[in-house]
Amino acid sequence: MIFAILATLIPSAGLGLLSYWQNEAMVANNVAQQLQTLAADANRELEHWLEARIIEVRTLSTSNAVTKGLAPPPPSAPVNTTKNTQLLPHYLRLVKDKLSPLLQLAVLTPSGKIVASSSDTPPPVILPSAGPQTTKADGVMIDTPHWSQHYRTVTLTLAVPVLSLDDEILGTLVAVVDLNTLLPSLKYATKISPGDILLLDLAGQPLLGTHNDDAPFEPVARQVLQQLREEAGKPIAFEGHLQKSVLGLAVMPKTLPVLVVVERDRADIYQAWAAFRNLFLSLMGGLTLLVGLIAWQMGRSIVTPLEHLTGAADHIAAGDLSVQLPVAQRDELGHLTQVFNQMTDNLRQSRDEFEAASQTLQKQNKLLEKLSITDSLTGLYNRKKLDDILADQLARFKRNQRPFALLMLDIDHFKKLNDTYGHLAGDQVLASVARTFSNSIRNIDFVARYGGEEFVIVLPETALSAARDMAERILTQVRSASYQFNDQSIAVTLSIGVAMSRSSDESADTLLARTDRMLYEAKRAGRDRVICTDDKST
Ligand code: GH3
Ligand code: MG
Ligand code: MG
Repeated sequence: MIFAILATLIPSAGLGLLSYWQNEAMVANNVAQQLQTLAADANRELEHWLEARIIEVRTLSTSNAVTKGLAPPPPSAPVNTTKNTQLLPHYLRLVKDKLSPLLQLAVLTPSGKIVASSSDTPPPVILPSAGPQTTKADGVMIDTPHWSQHYRTVTLTLAVPVLSLDDEILGTLVAVVDLNTLLPSLKYATKISPGDILLLDLAGQPLLGTHNDDAPFEPVARQVLQQLREEAGKPIAFEGHLQKSVLGLAVMPKTLPVLVVVERDRADIYQAWAAFRNLFLSLMGGLTLLVGLIAWQMGRSIVTPLEHLTGAADHIAAGDLSVQLPVAQRDELGHLTQVFNQMTDNLRQSRDEFEAASQTLQKQNKLLEKLSITDSLTGLYNRKKLDDILADQLARFKRNQRPFALLMLDIDHFKKLNDTYGHLAGDQVLASVARTFSNSIRNIDFVARYGGEEFVIVLPETALSAARDMAERILTQVRSASYQFNDQSIAVTLSIGVAMSRSSDESADTLLARTDRMLYEAKRAGRDRVICTDDKST
């Protein structure tokens, strides 16, 4: 998931930053171009406007009314002089009213005395001085524009010499024009290239501005003014006249001692750029979220089945083969899960088969074990097992000093029985007599076929008297039983020798031999009886 997010974020963030920087540079470049265009337009408008005023004033200066008004009266017509002198103010007033930028027109003598004025009470006409702030365009003197308290507007004074036909200076035509009449042209320029235009005098005092709000003009700081003048034509960032951070540049018109400043609000400029940045950031965020979600889903589709597989493998390793995984996908992992399930099935089947075989084997082993210690004809313990029992009993006796009794039983005249009824009958009698023994003994006793028609009974922790009683009881049971073969009843008697274990018994053989001797004694005494060690000295 982290890899997927990084793989998305790094290239897109890289590309985004690149285009962000490019965009920033492009915006800055565009704004610089637009400001330069606006400044050039404003400058052009200003020059056109001024040119129009100069043409107006110059045309006026050549008018008959003005030249005649200044020309010395011919001696022949002294009356006309008065007439001319009265006509000129009227003419000037007429012209002033026709041409809206004009605030006042005055005609002066070369010495500076007012000959005529468009106003009845003319303010004192200040002639443009020949100082450094005065421009001279084709013989027209132009004063520095400034705020006029009298006209309540920013005014500009133009002075043009009035010449006679002989190019003699008759006087001066002075026009005070309203600089505010330039404003519509400047505003028009701002419609083509966005921004505000500001006219400053050379001291930085605002004269005119195209901004729409009524906020008062603030003088531009001296430092900013200096920078604007030094880097004329180049955009710089500064605190604008409305106390806003702006990007602007200045140009200095050739014909007028003013500074044309164009500026644009930085917030406005970078609005689109900020919108682009926000769009980019939200796009990146969205993309990262989407990629993250897809990566998470993909990771889940890989990790979850793997976790299931790992968990199932752990179960199997712990011996639990009952696991069965759900196959939810049709991809490689789904296939792997399916194969895993098949493997588990096979393992389970093999284990079941193995367990079944093992159980059979165990049963067979038990059977074999039983067979190995059992006499096949009588079902009693065989001689080998008897040896083990005797060894064990002797060992116990040695440990706990509690003696055990041994009975040795032999069927009387069995050879004769075989001879009389046949070997098969003999076998059957042997099995039947063995059953009688098994029924007569206690749970803790052992009975074994010693060989042929001889048997041995081991009575753990039993006294001789009890052993004798047991022997007598068996003797009676066998004697009184009737053993059937082919509808014939066969009588059987036993001779039994009884002996007790002794501490001096080295091995079972010693005890067996002693018991055998008692049996022999029983035979010798006439059979069908019990002889104990008590009865005979051994
Ligand atoms: P005694 O009273 O002195 O013991 O005489 P006896 O005939 O019983 O003794 P003897 O030792 O002379 O003969 C034992 C006979 O038992 C011999 C043998 O044929 C028979 N016998 C031994 N084992 C088996 C057997 O498994 N089946 C049968 N049918 N006979 C057996
Ligand atoms: Mg015998
Ligand atoms: Mg016998």
